[in-house]
Amino acid sequence: MQKLRFGPAGKPYDMKSGDYVRAIEIISEMGLDAIEYEAVRGVAIKKENAEAIREKAREKNVIVSMHAPYFLNFASPKTDTVRKSVERLIRAVDAASWMNAYVVVFHPGYYKGHSNREDALRQTINSLSEVASYIEQNSIRGVFLSPETTGKDSQVGSLEEVIAICKEVSPCKPTIDWAHLYARSEGTFITNIDEVIGVLERVEKELGREAVDPLHTHFSKIEYGRGGEREHHTLAETEYGPEWSIVCRGLKEVGVSAVIISESPILDRDAIVMKKICEENC
Ligand SMILES: [Zn+2]
Repeated sequence: MQKLRFGPAGKPYDMKSGDYVRAIEIISEMGLDAIEYEAVRGVAIKKENAEAIREKAREKNVIVSMHAPYFLNFASPKTDTVRKSVERLIRAVDAASWMNAYVVVFHPGYYKGHSNREDALRQTINSLSEVASYIEQNSIRGVFLSPETTGKDSQVGSLEEVIAICKEVSPCKPTIDWAHLYARSEGTFITNIDEVIGVLERVEKELGREAVDPLHTHFSKIEYGRGGEREHHTLAETEYGPEWSIVCRGLKEVGVSAVIISESPILDRDAIVMKKICEENC
């Protein structure tokens, strides 16, 4: 049976102090059942604190995911940058395994320094295979690498590239960021239900059932300019796309389970709005 889970990218918007254990209690009371742990500025958590998150998430039936540091570039022509990226992602994988985060989300890198996109993608895949080997050698189970569809045309991370990475690197499930797909296309993609269904069917057809069980996704409204992403916006800001109801209807039509992380500036508050729209109007 299809299950759609909702939650914030990080601690609740109104939470002024406290850790992720408290954050899980709060979102659970709100009726949310997913949270993305943000390690975007680096992985600093101690094992015992990560294990406390695991326990609380289990108690409250909240699914946890993790966002790895922003400072990663697996496509970099500089070997030192790639080496540091590998080390940082490995640290994120370790922390994810302690807290039972099922995916480690990351932005794969940049095309800069390559004469064509294929070379950048090839290098990304080669660099990531080191992280995949680490996972295998250390028998880490239940943590998937999760390249995200990125919002800028300068970044590796089109839908095709994310699928290509997951075909060659294992374990891997993509993170589908609907706002990024929209911004990257400068508002021409994710404009109707058929396009949402097309994305979902393509991911499942090319990567198998496991990639969408449950699918990891991000949503918010987004502002774009030439080259893509500018800024994330709230669902109430009607001048921006994409439309959440389109994405929700597409998910329901295909019937896949999904973890929907709100990247709106008001995080959990918009996760609640998304959940309501999905339950009542789609
Ligand atoms: Zn991201």
